[in-house]
Amino acid sequence: MAKYIFVTGGVTSSLGKGIIAASLAKLLQDRGLRVTIQKFDPYINIDPGTMNPYEHGECYVTEDGAETDLDLGHYERFLNIYTSQANNVTTGRIYQTVINREREGAYLGKTVQVIPHITDEIKRRMRLLGQSDEFDIIITELGGTVGDIESLPYIEAVRQMQWELPDEDLLVVHLTLIPYLKAAKELKTKPTQHSVKMLSENGVFPDVIVCRTEQPLNNELKQKIALFCNVKQDAVIEAPDANTIYEVPLLMMNEKLDLIVLKKLNITEFGEAKLTKWKEFLDKFKYPKAKINIGLIGKYVELQDAYKSILESFVHAGAMNEVKVQVTPIHSEYITAENVGEKLAHFDGLLVAPGFGHRGIDGKISAVKYARETGLPFFGICLGMQMAVIEFGRNVLGIENAHSTEMDPTAKNAVINMMEEQKAITLKGGTMRLGAYPCVIKEGTLAHKIYGTTVISERHRHRYEFNNEFLDVYEQNGMIASGKNPQTDLVEIIELPQHPFFIGCQYHPELKSTVENPHPLFVHFIKAAKNFNENRTSLKNPLLQSEMI
Ligand code: GLN
Repeated sequence: MAKYIFVTGGVTSSLGKGIIAASLAKLLQDRGLRVTIQKFDPYINIDPGTMNPYEHGECYVTEDGAETDLDLGHYERFLNIYTSQANNVTTGRIYQTVINREREGAYLGKTVQVIPHITDEIKRRMRLLGQSDEFDIIITELGGTVGDIESLPYIEAVRQMQWELPDEDLLVVHLTLIPYLKAAKELKTKPTQHSVKMLSENGVFPDVIVCRTEQPLNNELKQKIALFCNVKQDAVIEAPDANTIYEVPLLMMNEKLDLIVLKKLNITEFGEAKLTKWKEFLDKFKYPKAKINIGLIGKYVELQDAYKSILESFVHAGAMNEVKVQVTPIHSEYITAENVGEKLAHFDGLLVAPGFGHRGIDGKISAVKYARETGLPFFGICLGMQMAVIEFGRNVLGIENAHSTEMDPTAKNAVINMMEEQKAITLKGGTMRLGAYPCVIKEGTLAHKIYGTTVISERHRHRYEFNNEFLDVYEQNGMIASGKNPQTDLVEIIELPQHPFFIGCQYHPELKSTVENPHPLFVHFIKAAKNFNENRTSLKNPLLQSEMI
């Protein structure tokens, strides 16, 4: 039987519940326990797949093709495990299940209510992964903040589980904020007292209080928090602001969060927490030997969370190459054929990001052209790869108006076309080509060198694809398809063998990069950027260097 840990949040949002949950999970995993994390989100959308990245940040796709919350990305990156649809549940999904059951007549004349029907469905899903015998501990992060109307059924479900399970099988961690008032030069515990009080009024009594704070908590404050929140003093954990999220597991280790949890859950058999690989990564990340500049071209650049997994993949790949990767987001709408040289002159590599729709694509195409012509390392992901195909079609092959039917549905020369199976689909949610598909790599290509194998599996989220009617003319003129789906022939990877590093993929490698397993495409892209930077520095003049390639 698995044991359950719930992580709730108080006082304000954005305290980093996902990172605290993932850090605790990492420590427990390092001690030899089998741990997974799931997230319950209180919004009514069935999943975040239909939300604008400005609303919700990146949509993270799992192996089984679920469109999920970006916190699942943190769980996978920290734990080096796969999550699935079962790890992310929303209020929309809960209600959909209950309403479908009502239509089937499953409730037999009863009035269907939040309690017990909605809370029963929440509890069923909270326990689902725990019944598989795959895990010793299930950590459940509850989205939202205590006191939100939408969160109430989840809090009630936790209350019921607390009542149903033996004391040693369930634990609640409450993450809260201890604000520092500059004028008074004091840390304030009152908001935390109130949020714990609110939780208690709903029948849930936290066992551990994790305090986000900008200033160290002294013993007196810890005592005060312990007393008013009804926990032992060692269960008041200080979570100071960290320079990087990857330091948090170590900070939590110092605070003995894992030991307190193990004690309460009465788990007596566990190993030592060493975090050896983690510390090695962190050392390389904190003490880089050089710095490189990467331009990230996208249209949601104002919001860092929109490209979360890409940014984290750069962190992993940077550490592996012992360089600091300085990523500069560039809005694709501000790039033109005229200013592109000036805007991109100081970069060592260019990543053109995934995306949807027409806005900003001309800038992306100009940027690809610049990288292709100057030898600047180029990496295109999903829409980024499609832009590289369009650019090559227009500027090298001279295919007039080469385009994607996503942007121009009547395009005569649709080098990027909607996939056949997508054409009859009208519903928007969860209907793209999603999740893991195999790809066979051609021997002797850059992709082959990077992956070191000929069969890979990567995750997808798209509706459009390379139009194979054009493949021959592309390959005869220097852009090759180095990876394809073995069943459908869908082009998964394109590259330019004549270029130092020019690669585009239809899938999303960023979704599979973890601290312990940085993604090879990112690792090699950063390596190419590092070489580019070294050559350029030795020549001292970036423009001269560009012209020489
Ligand atoms: N909009 C493109 C498609 O659907 C690319 C999607 C993406 O970048 N994730 O094919």
